[in-house]
Amino acid sequence: MKIDQRTTRAMNRRLILNLVRKEGALSRADLANATGLSPAAVTFVVTDLLAEGYLIEGETAPGGGGRRPVPLSINYRGRLAIGVKMNIGSLDCVLTDLSTSVISSLSVPFDNPAPETVLDAAENAIQRLLRAAPEHAGQLTGVGFSMPGTIDMPAGVCVSSNRFGWRDVPFAKMLRDRIGAPVWMEDDTLAFALAQHLFGLGSQHAIFLALAVGVGIGCATVANGVVLRGAHGRAGKLGHNTHRLEGPMCECGRAGCLQTFHSVPVIVDAWRRGKGLGAEADRYSMKEAALQGDDLACGLLQQAGEDIGVHLASVINSTDPEIVVVGGEAVTFGDLLFDPMRRMLDRYCYTRAPAIIPDEREHFWAAGAAALAIQGLFNFEMADSG
Ligand SMILES: [Zn+2]
Repeated sequence: MKIDQRTTRAMNRRLILNLVRKEGALSRADLANATGLSPAAVTFVVTDLLAEGYLIEGETAPGGGGRRPVPLSINYRGRLAIGVKMNIGSLDCVLTDLSTSVISSLSVPFDNPAPETVLDAAENAIQRLLRAAPEHAGQLTGVGFSMPGTIDMPAGVCVSSNRFGWRDVPFAKMLRDRIGAPVWMEDDTLAFALAQHLFGLGSQHAIFLALAVGVGIGCATVANGVVLRGAHGRAGKLGHNTHRLEGPMCECGRAGCLQTFHSVPVIVDAWRRGKGLGAEADRYSMKEAALQGDDLACGLLQQAGEDIGVHLASVINSTDPEIVVVGGEAVTFGDLLFDPMRRMLDRYCYTRAPAIIPDEREHFWAAGAAALAIQGLFNFEMADSG
């Protein structure tokens, strides 16, 4: 009986928090109407959430007579989260509020990707971010850590990451033991998709794709509020679809994967070599060159957009999403990359192609990782930490 009451309470909390997250300010009466809960049950849960600082009461609308309803909103500034994204040679770290809005950020290098080395770098970065946190910024909800690979998210274990050579590393627990705060970890594309669902461009869509084009290429599906992780957390590996049977070797051990042709480092490197440029030429200079009419830069971006677009059309034909949200370093290239992609969708989608919408926010990777530490508030499947 006691467990049933606790479960009901936990479900009602998430029901109400999710509704306010999606709809914005709502009164207690709105909440009772929308959820079908009794006014007493709504008041009970709302009182708790106000006391804990997760909800705040706003100003009543002016004018009219009688008792006016008080709008309730999520107190996004009431707590903090930290997101850490593992890149080659560095960690991108952000301190955010509960909407993953970035308060401060820093990047810390590491010499080699051994778990202990990365652990030292992560601990150092988290401590620096917390020391620099604004006064009265609220308590830390937890830390989210994202990296490319196969992650057992519930267990907090990196099962494998080809890019960093990790096998069965219980990194979430290792980091938690160092910093004394809850830690969640996830594949970077799946974490990016989660952030887009909770607070980003996908928040108003029942089904959407989250395409990420960076050092790898990933494409996660979010359906009915759930990021589809697959049976082993390996969903969304679009970049490992075979593009050419006889192609370059991929980090996954197969030849010809899509990302061996069109990841951001691959296309920038092809441009650099073609132009005889050094390492100082980066994706920003490549974009500038393309905008000035550089044929090689334009051609590489067009080919990448078209080829990724053809693979994306297959995913669209099997999932029928409302939109495609795009993130990753490739967002820098903008329509130089996305227009060719759109043309391929128009050509190869079974019906009308969904819109491709880039997320141009800085720190989207690390902010995506921060969402891992926040999702427990809204996610019905996760254990209640409260
Ligand atoms: Zn591969």
